[in-house]
Amino acid sequence: MLSTVIYRSRVAPWLSEHWITPMLIAARKKNIAMHITGILIFDGTHFFQVLEGPEQSLTALLSHIRDDPRHREITTLLRDYAPFRRFSSSGMDFFDVRGRTHGKTIDELYSTVADHRILHYDDRILTVVRACINGDWRDGFVEMLNPTEWEFCPEDGSLLVAPLSTPSGQTCQFALQAIVEPLNRRITSVEALIRGPHGEPPAVYFGGLSPRELYQADLESKSTALSLAKNLKLHQYKISINLLPMTLTSIEGAVETLLGYVLANGLEPEQIVVEVTEEEVVAQFDTFRSAIKKLRAAGIGLAIDDFGAGFAGLSLLTEWQPEKLKIDRKIIEGVNAHGPRQAIVASILRLCRSLGISVVAEGVETVEEWCWLQAAGIERFQGYLFGRPTLNQLGPISWPRKLVQS
Ligand code: C2E
Ligand code: MN
Ligand code: MN
Repeated sequence: MLSTVIYRSRVAPWLSEHWITPMLIAARKKNIAMHITGILIFDGTHFFQVLEGPEQSLTALLSHIRDDPRHREITTLLRDYAPFRRFSSSGMDFFDVRGRTHGKTIDELYSTVADHRILHYDDRILTVVRACINGDWRDGFVEMLNPTEWEFCPEDGSLLVAPLSTPSGQTCQFALQAIVEPLNRRITSVEALIRGPHGEPPAVYFGGLSPRELYQADLESKSTALSLAKNLKLHQYKISINLLPMTLTSIEGAVETLLGYVLANGLEPEQIVVEVTEEEVVAQFDTFRSAIKKLRAAGIGLAIDDFGAGFAGLSLLTEWQPEKLKIDRKIIEGVNAHGPRQAIVASILRLCRSLGISVVAEGVETVEEWCWLQAAGIERFQGYLFGRPTLNQLGPISWPRKLVQS
């Protein structure tokens, strides 16, 4: 199927001007062989390339481009499919925008357009290309930290607390994972994630229960989570717990029961954050609203979990503004190389700043993701890069350390 990709990359600083012409000649030859057409724009620091061709050829070419040290920060801006090619079949036309008016470059670009049908209508690809030429793409552009300048070192174990053995008769256990402010080397909170008696993941643990048992088990398990927090003396951190919205709405006195667990374990309601996802909530918004009121009145904090996942979280946000919002892993994954995800994160950040909501990026696994997110303005992180969930204990944290450049 005929596919289109636009990507942006930054030219390696060591690259000299003389290098462009031989690169173009080689690229054209390769593109023709692979039935790829397109254009290449260069503005002195960045390349923008539109590639069109069979999907498989594009995927192969892109992975080749990612391995090429001559450009870095390769970021996909758009992927699409089309009934016909937009550009001529010369392999690749080159536009150097330096020292020329944008209008002139755009006129030239239009003259290379192969199929004039697209000039008659607002064409999305051409809109993106125009933004690459006239500099509009810099709107919201994030100058990411350089991943090669950072290393992650696990802390020397000072935080590691000996695991507690599971008391017999306990039907569930909890794994703990830290939420951190890496540049301040600070743990801000600890999330308790449910596990079965043999360490089974949440889906397996909950999967064996009927709906009625499930909500009851969800609520009662929090007694175990909070007593673990007490036994590990996690008094200086916020403790995040997950609850299904239906647990709060379907169980009579759920909030009072939860508050009872908090107090019985010598914890402060103000240090507890309840994380909820949007699933099922909308249908029962009135009951849910009254549960939220009670939680807030007791001093317990609220967070929207998995923001941007299947259940987007926007309808929760229109109804009520939590103190914390956690951006779902699916948006975070590969964000450093993905233009649309970058735009979504940037707009979530803007939204949350204006509403006074603190933002956590979930599921951060790579140094590159962190380098982009930190530079974009996210301060709090959760993910394997910093620390894995650990059964019945808080595992060691890996903190970023800036390498001294030789
Ligand atoms: P969640 O609340 O979004 O928790 C984060 C999940 O992401 C956890 O999965 C955690 O192990 C995983 N995770 C953390 N960092 C990374 C990372 O860097 N990469 C990847 N790939 N995954 C990462 P887990 O523990 O399997 O929990 C899954 C979900 O189950 C939770 O997602 C939460 O929605 C739910 N859950 C956990 N405990 C409870 C509970 O006590 N009650 C209820 N109702 N739901 C719970
Ligand atoms: Mn959660
Ligand atoms: Mn989540």
